[in-house]
Amino acid sequence: MISRNNLSRLPKCPDPKIGAKIPITIGLALADGKSPSLSLAMQNHLEICESCRQNVPLWYEKGNIARRSAKSYSIVNRWERGDERILRKPIKDGIAYFEPNLDYPKKGLFVLWDTDNYIDDPEEMSLESFQNLE
Ligand SMILES: [Zn+2]
Repeated sequence: MISRNNLSRLPKCPDPKIGAKIPITIGLALADGKSPSLSLAMQNHLEICESCRQNVPLWYEKGNIARRSAKSYSIVNRWERGDERILRKPIKDGIAYFEPNLDYPKKGLFVLWDTDNYIDDPEEMSLESFQNLE
């Protein structure tokens, strides 16, 4: 017989098997730049499972973080492979990369590979500001 733990506020996930599939589905889709589509079973699970439902914003946040860092690494990698669209220059904080937008190359994404060897998330920046970085 299962006794209820009255101390825990959140009810336990009644179906951890499907409960575990939801963050993976959300994370993989977002990391890939797509919007997650949950199966009917997952949607039904979120209707009944408060524990998983409360975690949904966190899962979205993690997926978005993964997508941003994947984007940064892709910009650095493409420069390494000789992609001439990517600009690169050493600045005092590390090495700065810039990928111009396809439609509007005066703006683009800036990535800093800093002196601690940490690659930051991309930031929107104008080409002019990139050129003015020191
Ligand atoms: Zn659940």
